[in-house]
Amino acid sequence: MRKFTIVGGGQSGLMVGIGLLKAGHQVRIVQNRSGEELAKGKVLSSQCMFANAVDHERELGIDFWSETCPQVNGINFIVPNPDGSGTKVIDWAARLDRSAYSVDQRVKIPRWIEEFQRLGGKMVIADAAMAEVEDYARQDDLVIVASGKGEVGQMFLRDAVKSAYDKPMRALALTYVTGMTPRAPYSAVEFNLIPGVGEYFVFPALTTTGPCEIMVFEGIPGGPMDCWGDVKTPAQHLAKSLEILKTFLPWEYARSKDCQLTDDNGILSGRFAPTIRHPVATLPSGRKVLGLGDAVCLNDPITGQGSNNASKAAAIYLKRILGHGDRPFDEAWMQGTFDEFWDYAQWVVTWTNMLLQPPPPFILDIMGNAQGLPALAHRMANGFDDPRDFFPWFADPNAASAYLAELKGA
Ligand SMILES: Cc1cc2nc3c(=O)[nH]c(=O)nc-3n(C[C@H](O)[C@H](O)[C@H](O)COP(=O)(O)OP(=O)(O)OC[C@H]3O[C@@H](n4cnc5c(N)ncnc54)[C@H](O)[C@@H]3O)c2cc1C
Repeated sequence: MRKFTIVGGGQSGLMVGIGLLKAGHQVRIVQNRSGEELAKGKVLSSQCMFANAVDHERELGIDFWSETCPQVNGINFIVPNPDGSGTKVIDWAARLDRSAYSVDQRVKIPRWIEEFQRLGGKMVIADAAMAEVEDYARQDDLVIVASGKGEVGQMFLRDAVKSAYDKPMRALALTYVTGMTPRAPYSAVEFNLIPGVGEYFVFPALTTTGPCEIMVFEGIPGGPMDCWGDVKTPAQHLAKSLEILKTFLPWEYARSKDCQLTDDNGILSGRFAPTIRHPVATLPSGRKVLGLGDAVCLNDPITGQGSNNASKAAAIYLKRILGHGDRPFDEAWMQGTFDEFWDYAQWVVTWTNMLLQPPPPFILDIMGNAQGLPALAHRMANGFDDPRDFFPWFADPNAASAYLAELKGA
């Protein structure tokens, strides 16, 4: 039995913690908000997770909502006509081969904390800073920092080579609602790209009060959807959300106009710079700790990949830890563990960062052609589950035109 401390009990930290307990190890998770505080607090994310990421939850026996959470069965990509006529210039949809789901982290994380404790894990409710991390590193075989966007994660130095941006690329907002007319004929992430303004996506989910829909706003900084600064109350937040839809996306407004907030905490707004960090930090004592999840690989939510990445990283870290036997978790092992994750995540990060830029003509060509090429639409929808499949054809104009020619010829 080996001893582990994980700082941060969110999507990734709890998955690794629960996996280690199930393998017979001793685990402490230090988490700055209790399950009760999280359940009663503001929403944290839109957390849509695709099937491969959910599989890792299932492997650990903690996909407690697979039967009850509304399913997301497809992706619908829409570009409104820039002439303001209220029509669409692009509109295609395709089914996911396996459904996705979004379980409000205010539901999921408290339940996982309970499960972690039931399995014998030690949950410490405290805000860990460098001094505490030093203590844990002295006591245990391995300390993992999975603190999300928490400040303690700044002990991992920013990787300027892997980080494409040094400032927020979108003004973000979430609005959890009930009363929306469901999408027909199947549920989907409706992904609306409004050139020069930003993106709006919406999909069904499970929240503290039951099924809901989550509205996600991604406003280009300084543009008309970067508009949350003056919003002071939940009612104003909902009104602002509907105003955006009425202005730019009348089809979304039509099905949303009678919505209510799920609860006064079903709202969020903020912004952050997408940042990749070096995964190994050196403490003042010289001891090393390993970063996991958003702490070291923080993406803009535009592609809905953060929780997916967190789950996939957790699965890789677990496998690497359990495969390491009794050997010390030294710096080379830590770096190798992140590198194995990065083999996958680099594609997610590249794809996500591409979508934060105005789409070049060859991407618009791909997006437009998907309307008449169901195989292309299907591939793009299912790429959300494994974004490696977007490469090279989504990143390189020559590869894109060769692929389009092949599809049109078939
Ligand atoms: C607006 C928005 C929409 C999103 N939508 C999606 C989506 O649709 N799909 C998707 O896959 N991802 C989405 N994400 C991203 C996703 O929520 C995160 O990537 C994911 O939760 C990261 O998991 P994690 O384990 O790294 O960190 P988290 O889940 O954030 O967990 C970190 C935990 O550490 C705790 N903590 C922080 N500092 C300390 C400390 N010093 N001591 C102790 N505890 C600490 C925090 O309170 C938190 O509980 C979205 C994010 C945002 C902001």
